[in-house]
Amino acid sequence: MFGRTFNLFDLFGFRVQIDVTWLFLALLVTWSLAVGFFPALYPGLGQSTYLSMAIVGMIGLAASLVLHEAAHALVARAYGLPIKYITLFIFGGVAQLEREPETPKSEFLMAIAGPLMSLALAGAFWFGWVAGEGAGFPVGLNGVLHYLFVINLLLGGFNMIPAFPLDGGRALRAALWGWRGDLLWATRVAATTGNVFGLALIGFGIVRALYGDIVGGVWMFLIGMFVRAAARGSYMEVITHRLLDEVPVTRFLHEPAVPVPADTSLDDFVHAYVYDTHADFYPVVEGERLVGGLNAKALSRVPKRRWRELSVGDVMTPLAKQPVLPPSADVGAALTAMRKSGAEHVMVAEGERLHGVVAMSELQRYLSFKLEVEQSG
Ligand SMILES: [Zn+2]
Repeated sequence: MFGRTFNLFDLFGFRVQIDVTWLFLALLVTWSLAVGFFPALYPGLGQSTYLSMAIVGMIGLAASLVLHEAAHALVARAYGLPIKYITLFIFGGVAQLEREPETPKSEFLMAIAGPLMSLALAGAFWFGWVAGEGAGFPVGLNGVLHYLFVINLLLGGFNMIPAFPLDGGRALRAALWGWRGDLLWATRVAATTGNVFGLALIGFGIVRALYGDIVGGVWMFLIGMFVRAAARGSYMEVITHRLLDEVPVTRFLHEPAVPVPADTSLDDFVHAYVYDTHADFYPVVEGERLVGGLNAKALSRVPKRRWRELSVGDVMTPLAKQPVLPPSADVGAALTAMRKSGAEHVMVAEGERLHGVVAMSELQRYLSFKLEVEQSG
C-alpha cells in the first residue's frame, strides 16, 4: 500500500511514520488554509501570519490524525491484535493491523474508538477556541484552535459514515456480523455500502469540478476511487482468508515442479526445460540443495545472444529473496506471502529440501470455484 515511509517517533509503543504521499496532503492543506480558510474567517492579518497559522494548523491536523489512529491501535492491542505502525499518507492516517479482529465486539469497539477520539478532540479544541475568544488569546492562536475544532469534527463525522472501509462501515460490519454470526455476509453488505458511497463521492467530485472547484472536485473523486478500491480489497481479503485458511498449501503443489541445476546454461534451460514442460516457474538447485527460483518470463529481459554464456544461477532470484513456506503452512499464508513479495509463485520447502511450487493462478482458480459453491448455498 505504501511507497517510501519515514519513521517519526514512537507513541504508546507504536511506530509513527509518514508516507511520502503525506507531504502532498500537507502542502495542499497548508496552502488551502493560508489562502482560503484563515483569510476568509480572520480578515486583515498579514500574509506571513496566515502562512504560520496554516503551518501550525497542518501540524495540528497531523497530530489529530495520529491520535485518531492511536485510539484504534490501543483498543486493538487491548484485544491482543498486534499493530506496529501508524502511518500518515495521502488520504489521512491508518493503523496497520496484522490480523483481522476475531470477534464482532472487538471489531466494533476498535472501529468506533477513532471517531470518538476525533470528536473528543473536537470538543477540546472547541473549548479552547471559545475560552480563547473570551480571554482574548492572540487571534492567530484562536484561528488555529477554531480550525482544529472544525477539522476534528469533520474527521469524526466523515469516518462515522457507514461505508466500508471507513470506521463507520467497519462498525456496521461488526454489528451485522454480531447479529447474524456470518462474517462473509456482513462483509459483503458493508463492502456494498462502501462501493455505493465511493461512487457517490466520484459523482459529486465530477460535478464539483465542473462547477469550477477543480481542486475540491478532483480530491473527492480520488477519495471515492480509493474508498471503492479499499472496499473491494478488504472484501476479497476476508473471503480469501475465510475460504483458504487452514487449507494446507501442500494440496496445491504444482506438478511437475522440475528443479533446474544452477549451472544449466539459459540456452539449455529453454530447450530442455521450458519448451518441454511449459511451466512458468522453476526451482533452482545445486545438487539436492534448493538455492533459488526462476520465472520463465525473466528470460525476456536477457538478450538472446547471451543465453549461451549465462547460467540459470546467474539470473535466478536467490532463495533469500523469494517467498518460501514450510509444508505445514496453509493457503492463506501462501497468498499473504505472494501479495507481500509480488511473486506469482511460492516454493514449499523444508529447509533446503524442495517439496514443490504453488502458483497464484492455481489458488485463484480454486478460490473462484469455492466462492461459487459457497454463494450458491
Ligand atoms: Zn479511523
